[in-house]
Amino acid sequence: MVILPSFLERVFTTEPIVGHREWDLTHSHRLAGIVSRAEWPAGEAVRARCSEHPEHRAPEPDCDCGLYAERELIGWKHPDGRLPSAYGTVALWGRVIEHENGWRAEYAYPLEISLRCADCGLRPTVAILHATWDGQITLLCDRCLAEAPTPRATTGVAEVRDELSRAYAVPVRLAAAEPPAISEDDLLQLLDLAHLRGLVSFRDILRRTVGLREKAWALLDRAQELGLVEARGRSGVETTFGLTRRGEKWRDRKKEEALRKEEREDRAKGPIDMDFRPPTYWSDLSEEDLRLLAEEDRGVEIASIDYDPLDGPVLTVEAVFREEWIEYRALFGGQGDGEEELEATPSRSRRPLSLRELVQLIESVYVPDWGSPVEGYWEWQMDEEGLDVWEAVALPWIRSEFYPELPRYYARRGRRWVARKRREALERERRARREKRAATRSRASRG
Ligand SMILES: [Zn+2]
Ligand SMILES: [Zn+2]
Repeated sequence: MVILPSFLERVFTTEPIVGHREWDLTHSHRLAGIVSRAEWPAGEAVRARCSEHPEHRAPEPDCDCGLYAERELIGWKHPDGRLPSAYGTVALWGRVIEHENGWRAEYAYPLEISLRCADCGLRPTVAILHATWDGQITLLCDRCLAEAPTPRATTGVAEVRDELSRAYAVPVRLAAAEPPAISEDDLLQLLDLAHLRGLVSFRDILRRTVGLREKAWALLDRAQELGLVEARGRSGVETTFGLTRRGEKWRDRKKEEALRKEEREDRAKGPIDMDFRPPTYWSDLSEEDLRLLAEEDRGVEIASIDYDPLDGPVLTVEAVFREEWIEYRALFGGQGDGEEELEATPSRSRRPLSLRELVQLIESVYVPDWGSPVEGYWEWQMDEEGLDVWEAVALPWIRSEFYPELPRYYARRGRRWVARKRREALERERRARREKRAATRSRASRG
């Protein structure tokens, strides 16, 4: 439920959309658009106007106009590197155009405002007149104020906060005073992202990770302090960071440790029972259902191998009920664009398959492009997609309602595969070094 100031309740006929956004602050202590610089009036809804085409009603589908809000706060940085001093949630209504990351609306009103230091994102203590934008103020904390060039403090932050909450009649909070704790897992997530994308920026972290949003700044700072990433360049107004050699090594070591831990945990669970055989595939189905399935030539899914969590292809193994036996088929296809039946053996059995037989069936399938459904895909991801072992082994996702240990079986194979690949890579490196040494020696003996 959305809690609105009482005068707004009358404006909405249906629930408004709630989005996230940021604002700058004017020296009269009002919110202002970060691009338009337009002030949001106190106590009344702000209405969008198109500055390019005053004749059309904003927002227009083919225009950029409207009041912006995002589903998740993606974040903005001014060209001088500073953050907008205020952020929070807004109600949107009237004409609303939906986009991938959020909306453009005709009307908006703030629901909740948070204030932060424009340099470090933590709890602000003072407001200073912005050096370049006339009539705007920027909030800073004491530490950042001390480092600011020719700061002109105007007021304490309490005054700004009180005035904002009076003007808009909504809660106004201050950002946390302490930087959030950064764990090794956070760092590892950052390094994975940087590794995968080559370079990473503040916005990449906001966009592509869950749970790191509040920490994005502190995370980049910490990773730089530890020498795991370094600034490499700029994209737009943003600094981009790349992994250092030390970062690569650290990431590798952490992955290796995680692998060992998984191995230990797996061993503690005991051996996998490859002779396990579910009593039936039809336990949830009435006779009527079974007859219908058989008539329509439909099967029950007994395992699925999912190549992409978003909308990639899936390999499904189905069991089809027949009077005398069970028939199996392997279906491969993207979501939505039809399925292709691939050859699989065994193609039928009298009783449900054992786990061993199911694995045999899966391994007998030849998937276009990568061959064997699981290991073939790991290899393909490395050779064709340029992923490293850790990334390559992360997919596909293997699931089975009838064989709970099937994912565990393939996780085990995955770990063995990673170990083999890493041994091979080490071996290649060693050989290359030996050859180089031999070449140097033979040059030296000739000279
Ligand atoms: Zn427009
Ligand atoms: Zn600060």
